[in-house]
Amino acid sequence: MKQEKTSSIPRENSLIDMFSRSISYLRLSLTDRCNLRCLYCVTEDESNGSLTRLRHDDLLTYEELLRVVRVAVAMGITKVRLTGGEPLVRRGVLDFIRRLGAIQGLTDIRITTNGVLLEQYGPELYAAGVNKVNISLDSLQPERVAAITGTDCFDQVWRGVETMLALGCAPVKLNMVAMRHINDDEITAFAGLSQRLPLQVRFIEFMPIGASSRWNTDTYIDTDEIMARISTLGELIPLQEGRGDGPAQVFRLGSDAPGTLGFISPISHHFCNRCNRLRLTSSGALRSCLLHDHEVDLRAVLREQFTDTAIAAALLTAIRNKPKGHDLEERIRQTGGDCHGRMSRIGG
Ligand code: SAM
Repeated sequence: MKQEKTSSIPRENSLIDMFSRSISYLRLSLTDRCNLRCLYCVTEDESNGSLTRLRHDDLLTYEELLRVVRVAVAMGITKVRLTGGEPLVRRGVLDFIRRLGAIQGLTDIRITTNGVLLEQYGPELYAAGVNKVNISLDSLQPERVAAITGTDCFDQVWRGVETMLALGCAPVKLNMVAMRHINDDEITAFAGLSQRLPLQVRFIEFMPIGASSRWNTDTYIDTDEIMARISTLGELIPLQEGRGDGPAQVFRLGSDAPGTLGFISPISHHFCNRCNRLRLTSSGALRSCLLHDHEVDLRAVLREQFTDTAIAAALLTAIRNKPKGHDLEERIRQTGGDCHGRMSRIGG
């Protein structure tokens, strides 16, 4: 395949969008496949096993992904997160991560995982330079985890959490999607974990995305309510650290806690004005917003034009189209909870 000299790629700091946001963070969905069927992420059809998956040819190959990342890093991307679907189920992922780690200028590689394979893969991930891990866990009760995910996996996931803590990962973040009547009675138990372990426990507002029919104004709980419930345990001390490093507002629950709490409020206090992200879906579409369906078909560019200049142009088009903010509240008002494309394909 023809590789151009990188001199034809627009240089560093060219990734500024129309609203003066500097884009430095690329999220890669490695696969739409997942070893769990979380009730808020998949449709009923999918949970019966009738999930229509992408064909192998529809996925970007590792070579294609590496090429995109090289171009993006030359333009100013410094941070990449691997997500999915479940990124650790894609064959050859560790070798891919090692090759990613060799890209000069890429200073930060992170992963979001359901943790099922972390006990097994954690040490190699860590050795490959991935020391920042987000693990999704929506309950601390094994039977409830089984009900939410469709798999009896709590013990396995928890061993994954312990593996990453023992390796010295900093931070290990736990992602909990708070849902009324489903797991909201565990909000304070999750917050309490930060008083015992050096974790960042993150409370994520449930979004009407992923074609889940479970979202409605009753199951949705906003950050203000989550924080009010946690405040009954002690003082929430705001921390500056973490600002600019992600969408979470970060607090410590009491001055002695080894861990912290993060609150991610895509609906009630959206962080669009600070958003520095670009996403690449598992089928090779560039999306500049999780909640806007405008996409640039980078796979077609990769397979039909072959040049780094064309890849750079696609990245710039996606960034030029980045909306000022998402319109989820408006859509919820109009439709009661419209659903956007599948989370597993886009990459949560
Ligand atoms: N399989 C990996 C995992 O479980 O972390 C990565 C993909 S998953 C789609 C990424 C994150 O999106 C998870 O933390 C999950 O809880 C979150 N997520 C999925 N659907 C969501 C929804 N409707 N609202 C809020 N967060 C959601």
